[in-house]
Order: sequence, then structure tokens, then C-alpha cells
Amino acid sequence: MRGPGKLSNIRLRAKPREAAKWAGEPDDNVTIRPKLIAAGLLTGLALAAVALALFFMLRTLPDYQRETGATPTPTAAYGNMMAVTRDPSQPTPFPSLSKGSRGERVLRLQTRLQELGYYAGETDGQFGGGTEQAVMLFQQANGLDADGYVGEATEAILYSDSAVRYTGTPVTSAAPTAAASTPVPFPGTLRSGSKGDSVITLQTRLRELGYYTGAIDGDYGRGTQNAVSAFQSANGLTADGVCGQLTWTALFSDTAVPKPTTAPVPTLDPSAARPYVRADGLPLVVNKKNPLPEGYATLQLVDMSTYCDPDIVKIKYAGTLAESEAVDALMVMLGAARAEGVGDWQISAAYRSETYQQQLMDEKVAELMRVNGLSRTKAEKAALNTVAEPGKSEHHLGTCFDITVPGRTFSGTRQHQWLTENCWKYGFILRYAKDKESITGYTAEAWHYRWVGQPHAQIMHEENLCLEEYVAKYGQP
Ligand SMILES: [Zn+2]
Repeated sequence: MRGPGKLSNIRLRAKPREAAKWAGEPDDNVTIRPKLIAAGLLTGLALAAVALALFFMLRTLPDYQRETGATPTPTAAYGNMMAVTRDPSQPTPFPSLSKGSRGERVLRLQTRLQELGYYAGETDGQFGGGTEQAVMLFQQANGLDADGYVGEATEAILYSDSAVRYTGTPVTSAAPTAAASTPVPFPGTLRSGSKGDSVITLQTRLRELGYYTGAIDGDYGRGTQNAVSAFQSANGLTADGVCGQLTWTALFSDTAVPKPTTAPVPTLDPSAARPYVRADGLPLVVNKKNPLPEGYATLQLVDMSTYCDPDIVKIKYAGTLAESEAVDALMVMLGAARAEGVGDWQISAAYRSETYQQQLMDEKVAELMRVNGLSRTKAEKAALNTVAEPGKSEHHLGTCFDITVPGRTFSGTRQHQWLTENCWKYGFILRYAKDKESITGYTAEAWHYRWVGQPHAQIMHEENLCLEEYVAKYGQP
């Protein structure tokens, strides 16, 4: 069994100092200790502190979780974390399949992979190199950690109706394994902090392909990480900046795509109809009752990680896309904030495709079933409280941003306060406000902003209307 829940992830992610902050403990609580004389009093206080810490953790965690949930960690990293938290001394209640496994379940696996277009080899119940490659392709396409290991999470998605099909050439049993076709042997996963000759090999290759301009020093730092992410984005891999086997194989294959030499220059025709604006000129509403119109096409998505000034905003995930017009407005707003002394901004999410939203939904359902022990039907219903159904997320528009502060819960920060007071001036609205929950149908989200432009943002601000109310009041039916 590979999957503990988000709680253990959070525990891993949080630095002890942050945990203390959540618990509301002062940083200098050490200084009061000498004043306590009675040991009993100390014990009592310690117990009270633990109780207090638990109380605040329970109160604060859901928000942090939701923010994180709204802004998913690339799944490869998520998978790595799950692997770390697995206790190998515990019996595996759900035996997983991997290379070398045989039998009925392998046969079923091969049949399913064949059905989905990943596998064209023999269905012989023997988990060999071909089956493993097909599993990795499947995992990659479905946002899972591509480790070739069929655990509970992989199985859950594999046999679900929402499993993403493969459109490339399926793997046959005879296909050489990834390692055999690699001229440079895979040295094991390399990531931020790795050092040595393999990192030199990696940096040299990244430079050859035009992704890396830093020193060839065998030190996997920020520059190498960014180069790996950029390579992954351009080569259809999950852009997590970690060089695992798939990335390594792609890097050293003849088909590795070099860095595109010309960055796309966004040019918007001001007279063009905007897909995110209704015929009557009001912002298009996408919510639980109004799904994205059939055949909706975005206008001009740009890659924020290369488009935005990193001195003004950090883009949490390389390859994050959004409509250029909205990004321009965002940069004006955050630039103004910085000029007023409020910096340290981060974008955790922007545009999301319907396929990606489906993956988020599947992950949430699988998690609720696994961690909370819900039935599929109940999990699917519960997931709707925090994850928008594909086609019903505003993120499909490319004009919404989850604005956060690196490493912190956004609510209550001065960045949060600044946006609350000023965002309307720059054409942005807080989309899911506390006092509009019954109308928007969403629990308040302090971090989710939508660009709607003027005069809409100003009118909504002055009249305290959420988008649904604004459209109902001023729109043409
Ligand atoms: Zn959002």
C-alpha cells in the first residue's frame, strides 16, 4: 500500500518552525522554562501545549490543505512523498505488482493496458520489461509517479472510467526496455541537492540542448532544476524539475526536443472576441450550474514561468499557463504591490485543462476512499466540496490565479490584506468570498482571484456583488 493521506504529506512538508507557528506558540517560549519550578506544573503545561497545538493544527490545517489541494503538487513529487511515508515493516494489505510479478492480476493488468492503448505485447500474466514500460507510460499520462510499480493508487485510476487513454504507439513485449535503449545508463534519480559525475553528465546534456547556461559543476542547484523543468515541459513530461528515469531516457534519446529558440510573442487583437467575455460584454460565468460552453477555446495562453518577471512573482510550477491579457494585468497589479513594499508573491495555479481537472478529481476521490474509508459513491460526492467537477472549474478560462505566498498559508498575510483592499483597482475580483458562499456555491477561498477588467471589478467592489449577482443584475438574459 503506497498511500497515506495528505496529513502525512503536510507533516513532511512543514518545517518544525512552521508547525510551531500554526500552533500559535511564541518563538521564544524557551525563555519561560527556567521560571517553572515544580516539575508537575511543567508536565501539566506540556500537556496543555500539546492539546493547544492539536487544537490549532486541526483548525488551521484544513485551510492549508485546501490551498495546497487547490494548487496541487506535481504528482511525481507527491508520489515520492508517499513512497517516503510508507512503513516497510508493515505488512502490505494490498500486494502491489511490479516487474517479475506473475499471475491472474498481471493478466488483468495487461488486458486493461491493452484496452487503453498502452500495451500491444503478449497478455501472458508475466510482468516483464514491456509491461513495465506500458505501466510507466500509463502513470505518466495519468499524473502518477511513473515508477512502473502498480500500487493501490495506480490500480484505482487504471480501472476507473476516467483512466486517460494512450494515443501513441503501444509498447510491445519485444520493445527494448528504457534502460537498454539508453546510450547513457540511468544513474538513479537526480534532484535538487544531488552532486557528482552524473550531475555533470546531466548538465552537459542540458547545455547541449540549450536549456542550461550555468556552470558545469556537478551540483544540482536551482539553475539545473529549472533547466530540467524546462526540458520536461518541452518534451511532454511532468515538469517537476526532478530527473527520474523517464526524463533521463528522454534527455539522451535522439528525439530529445531542444529548447525552442524563439519565445512566442503574445499579440492580442483588441477587436477579437474574448472567449471569457459574454456577448453582452460581461464576464463569462463558469460555476457548478454553468459549465464551460461546449467547444470552448482559449485565446492566447502564455507560459507564466518564462513570461513573468521572477523578481515580481514566483511561478510555483514551471509550465503554468494563463491568458496573456490576464497575466499582463496581474503583473501590473503585483508590480504596484511591490512598489508599495508588499512583495514575495507566488502563483500556485492558473489555467487548467479539463483533463487535468479530471485527474485532480480522481486523485481526491481515491484519497477519500483510501484515507477516510468512504465508498466510491460517497467519496465522489464529498470530493465535490473541494474539487470542481471537470468543465465547472473557473480555472479552465485561464483568467484566474491562485495567488499565494511561498511556504505560508495565505490567509492572514499582509499580501492577502493588500489584495483584499486593492485588487479591484487592477480589474481583479476575489471570486469566492465568505459572505457569498451560498451564492457562489464554494467555500471561501482567500487565494483565488479572477481578472475581469474594468468597469466590472470596480462596480462589483462598490456594490459588494459577487460575479453571479453582478451578471444577474446587469446582464442581458
Ligand atoms: Zn483557484
